[in-house]
Amino acid sequence: MDYKLETRCIHSQENKNQPFGAVSVPIYQTAIFSHPGIGESSGYDYSRESNPTRASLENIISQLEGAQDTVACSSGMAAISICLSLFQAGDHIICSEDLYGGSVRMFRQYEERGLRFSYTNTSELENIKRLLTPETKAFYIETPSNPTMQITDLFALKQLADEHGILIIVDNTFLSPYFQTPIQLGADLVIHSGTKFLNGHNDVIAGFLCSKDQNLAKKIRFLYKTVGSCLSPFDSYLMIRGIKTLAIRQERQQENAIQIAKWLQSRKEIVKVYYPGLKEHPGYEVNQRQARGSGSMISFQVDSKETVEKILQKVELITYAESLGGVETLITYPMIQTHGDVPKEMRERLGINERFLRMSVGIENIEDLIEDLEQALE
Ligand SMILES: *Cc1c(COP(=O)(O)O)cnc(C)c1O
Repeated sequence: MDYKLETRCIHSQENKNQPFGAVSVPIYQTAIFSHPGIGESSGYDYSRESNPTRASLENIISQLEGAQDTVACSSGMAAISICLSLFQAGDHIICSEDLYGGSVRMFRQYEERGLRFSYTNTSELENIKRLLTPETKAFYIETPSNPTMQITDLFALKQLADEHGILIIVDNTFLSPYFQTPIQLGADLVIHSGTKFLNGHNDVIAGFLCSKDQNLAKKIRFLYKTVGSCLSPFDSYLMIRGIKTLAIRQERQQENAIQIAKWLQSRKEIVKVYYPGLKEHPGYEVNQRQARGSGSMISFQVDSKETVEKILQKVELITYAESLGGVETLITYPMIQTHGDVPKEMRERLGINERFLRMSVGIENIEDLIEDLEQALE
């Protein structure tokens, strides 16, 4: 049976074919596996390389993303690090200009070892074309980007990538496979901070690197077992559990986000709202075409630093914390938190200043959320 995505989040093969008919995937809390005979293996030898609980999770992610293979890593950053290890000194990568701050920090480390990165607004294909060199090996994209929600046209990017033999890497954390499946749109590698929407409960740090073809998958598996940045069996179990409610969480989060975005627009203290679900967002149409939703991340610019302070100090229900994607609504101050390590001139060009806030909308009652924002702004 070819089930729809909501059903597949719960009823994957992995969730079905367990010993003793176990309805949830068991936690195989073991580092090693005995060999049935000389030169024989049960399929598992050592948990750095593979573990049955983690393998179940990896298969679930692969089939949600339409990937050939997925490795489950100890964090999103670990997944990005493995991804960058595929490249060599001299290779050039063109990136979306407002990436997750931790990614920019890591790219700077790799720059010291000879990789080259160029940043541009990838929602304009012309900007990318201008930066192409014979050494360009990959496009590294976030769509929507973080935190200014730029949308990159993945269909158009795929044509350009094919003309020049360039890999497309998409960090799909913001929309998750529920709303967007980049491999179906031509991406070669998909990265996730599993810590965010896939987990959904702010109780695990995890990451994924999904590959479209066997060739990339083989190289990644080798790096993965060599480096050892694997996710533990218990955290793998929590991820499987979280993913069961991915669809229902994302729907509710998006429903709330649309209402909050509209409410923010109606307030005089709010100067600009960045949310790809609003018709006036410059990437609205491209996002509608390539994704199944606009997610629940909203950024906004307020009128003064005092308003920022008021909001951050007075919210009660909404938590002032640095993450996203969970059932709890969070508010982040990117300038000093997620994007604190991004060079100042880059931050200012993007508008990530002292009046800029980002919100990850949760699944609470919408009236409670708006009431909380209302009292904070009073
Ligand atoms: C959080 C995040 C990461 C890093 O993931 P960790 O799980 O925190 O290591 C990477 N990309 C994006 C878009 C993120 O939001």
